[in-house]
Amino acid sequence: MENLNFFDDFRRNLIDQYEKCEAYKIICDNQKYNPKTQLKCEEDIEKVPFLVTTVFKKSANLFDKLLKVPTNELDKWTVSSSTSGDPSFVGRKNEDIDTLRQIIKNDTMIDPKCEFNCVFYPEPEVMKKYKSIKIMDKPTESYIGNVLDLMADTSDFGSNAKFLLKPYEDRFDVDIDEFAEFIKVHDKMKHYLLIGGSTILLYNAVEALKKNGVKPVELGDKAIIRTGGGGWDGKKGNVSMGKKMERWQFVKIVSEFLGIPEENFIDIYSFTENSLPITGHYSSKLKNYLFHVPSGGRVVIRDPKTLKPLHNDGDKGLIQILNAYGTSAFAGASILVDDMAEIVSKEKCPECMANCMTIKILGRVKGSEAKGCGATLNVGGDKNEN
Ligand SMILES: [Zn+2]
Repeated sequence: MENLNFFDDFRRNLIDQYEKCEAYKIICDNQKYNPKTQLKCEEDIEKVPFLVTTVFKKSANLFDKLLKVPTNELDKWTVSSSTSGDPSFVGRKNEDIDTLRQIIKNDTMIDPKCEFNCVFYPEPEVMKKYKSIKIMDKPTESYIGNVLDLMADTSDFGSNAKFLLKPYEDRFDVDIDEFAEFIKVHDKMKHYLLIGGSTILLYNAVEALKKNGVKPVELGDKAIIRTGGGGWDGKKGNVSMGKKMERWQFVKIVSEFLGIPEENFIDIYSFTENSLPITGHYSSKLKNYLFHVPSGGRVVIRDPKTLKPLHNDGDKGLIQILNAYGTSAFAGASILVDDMAEIVSKEKCPECMANCMTIKILGRVKGSEAKGCGATLNVGGDKNEN
C-alpha cells in the first residue's frame, strides 16, 4: 500500500459506491450530487455526501441496503460490541479484511513486533464466534475479533500471546492471576513487550492488583501499552465504571504501576463501520493522545450544529472518515461518526513532527451538541440508544 494515490483510489471507490448502493445514490440525488462530475480534485472531498454510523444499527434495519454486492457474495457480517444492545451490522468480504491487514502491517504503531504480548481480549477465534448468528445465511462475527485476528497473524502475536479474557458461562472473565504472573516474569527485564486491549479492563486490573497489595513493577522503556476499542466514556460492552475515564489519569496510573514511560502509550481509534484504524500516541505535555490520520484516508471535522467542515487548529466537531480501501462490499467510503474530535494540526504532529493531519479524539457527542445534529444522525429512523 505504499505509493498509493489516495485521491484517484477514493474517487474510484466513491463512484463504485454511487453506482452499486442504491441507498447511497438516493442520498446523493437528494443533495444533487454526482461524484462523476463533482469530485474532481482533493479539495472537492469535503462536499462528498456521507452516511452516518447509526444507519448501520440493527434498529435502523437498513444494513442490507448499505451493501454494494448481493448478500450471497458476502463472507460475513461484522458486528460491533454494543453497550446499548443495538449493534451495527456491516457486510464484508474477506478481501476487505485482507486490505485491513495491509493497513495494520504498515503501521508500526499498531504492529510494533513485540516479543511478548499480553492482551485484555479473548482469543481471536473465540471472540469472532462469540454469540454469532446467521443473517441472510451469512454468519455474524465480532469486528474487533477480526482485527485482533489480523494482528495475531501479521506479527508473532498469535503464537506467544496471552489472551486474558476467558469464556465463562455466556461472558468473558479477566484472568487476573495470569496478568499478575506476566508482569512479575518481565519485571526489570527490559523486554520488548506489549500489553493491550480494553482500556477499562486494563485499568480495573491494575487497580485490583494494587488493592491486593501487589507492588508496582518496572517493565521498562521497551514495553508498550496499546489500547483500543474505546471505553473512555467508562462503558464497554457490559462493563461499566460508572464514570468517565480521563485519559491522562489512565496513563498516569498504569504508567506508574507498570513502570512504562507515558510516551509508550498508544490508542487505536476504530469502529465497525470503518476500515481505517487511526493510531495515536500519548503526549505527556498535552495530556492526551495525538492521532495521526493515515495516508490511506482522510478525516474531515464538521461543526456539530451546521455540519459545515472546520479547518482551524483547535476546532472541534464530528468526525467524518473518507476511505479509499477495504470497502468493496459496503457503502463505507464516506462515514460520519457520532464522535467528536479536535483538529490539532492539519499538516503536522506537533510532538513527533510526522507529516500528517493530527487530531485528538474527544468522545461521543453529547447534550446540546447532539441535539443540533440529531436530525442528521437519526436518519435511520427510531433509534434510541442507551
Ligand atoms: Zn505524532
